Amino acid sequence: MRKLFFTTIIFIGVVAHAQKAILVDTHNDVLSSASIGLGLDIGADLKGKTHSDLARFKKGGVDVQVFSIFCDDRFGVGSAYRRASQEIDSLYAIAARNAGRMTIVTDVAGIKRAVAAHKLAAMMGVEGGHMIEDRMDYLDSFYNRGVRYMTLTWNNSTSWATSAMEETSKAWTVTPYGLTDRGKAIVRHMNELGMLVDLSHVGEKTFWDAIHTASKPVICSHSSVYALCPVFRNLKDDQIRAIGANGGVIQVNFYSGFLDSNYAPRVKAFLARHKGVVDSMNAVHAPGYAVNEYLSKTFPAEADSLRAPLALLIDHIDYIVKMIGVDHVGLGSDFDGIESPPKQLDDVTCYPLVTRELLKRGYKPAEVQKILGGNFLRVLKANEVTRTVAR
Ligand SMILES: [Zn+2]
Repeated sequence: MRKLFFTTIIFIGVVAHAQKAILVDTHNDVLSSASIGLGLDIGADLKGKTHSDLARFKKGGVDVQVFSIFCDDRFGVGSAYRRASQEIDSLYAIAARNAGRMTIVTDVAGIKRAVAAHKLAAMMGVEGGHMIEDRMDYLDSFYNRGVRYMTLTWNNSTSWATSAMEETSKAWTVTPYGLTDRGKAIVRHMNELGMLVDLSHVGEKTFWDAIHTASKPVICSHSSVYALCPVFRNLKDDQIRAIGANGGVIQVNFYSGFLDSNYAPRVKAFLARHKGVVDSMNAVHAPGYAVNEYLSKTFPAEADSLRAPLALLIDHIDYIVKMIGVDHVGLGSDFDGIESPPKQLDDVTCYPLVTRELLKRGYKPAEVQKILGGNFLRVLKANEVTRTVAR
């Protein structure tokens, strides 16, 4: 195993230098969960506290990280945009303090410059349309500050788009559900700006309305395959085919609960064993994901035994490749937004293991290069708008 591991490292080195593989991950929540949430500095060593910090991105060979700008549905009109702006400010401050190690980029040319300078290329994606507070000028502002994707909804619907969670539970309040005319105008404006339309988290009706409205390739920044793990956040076969036809890319989510259909029963038993803690957190209305995160940190050995096998992550990638080809899949780990990544994928240092597994499955170096980041770069480029006048 050890020998194979080092062979893989050498191989990655060869791919990186000979074929310019650029490793992109399109979804990481460390900015909202650790930097803003806990006041931690990702420039420092945060091993044991988070999945991510600057040194570990480097160790894992991450060239491009899209940082999620996120707040949940407790933030709304009057507070969500401000919170998102605070996170953007924070990323700029982190980049300024660590100018020798990272740089904020907004396009493929910037990514290539960052890679050549051996710096982490940091990008931003707004995870949830509620952060524009129904204002097109806020969308413009996000774009102008460097945000390059917006997930139309998070788990909460907006007034103009219904989420997967609310469509599934039939809890939406938007009429009609899906994308409203306003929502379609927002999608069209994103295409005009050059901001990627991200369809992770959206309901099926919103998905179809958006993909029929979009004039450019879309992304799913952190979603996996419904046929392998039937949960509301994953993509059904017809959605996967539609993204292939659109020329877009599905960035597979690493969350055990989105990869492994046996994960939910294991978690249910885990929660039952710690009913007292769960009940007391529910009594203070802690969100479900906060309860899960707390339990995972408090009972790490038990939480570890719940994790999905690494091979399942590769199964999801394989499934998409077999259905629509190798040009439409990539990685959107959701590190620091998930309490349970697959076994062996402990943190952002572990991407070489993904490469190793892909090679073991018979993927050729050029195909691995596409999955690791080439496909996302193609879609980013296709969304870029050339302007002669600065906005
Ligand atoms: Zn998410």
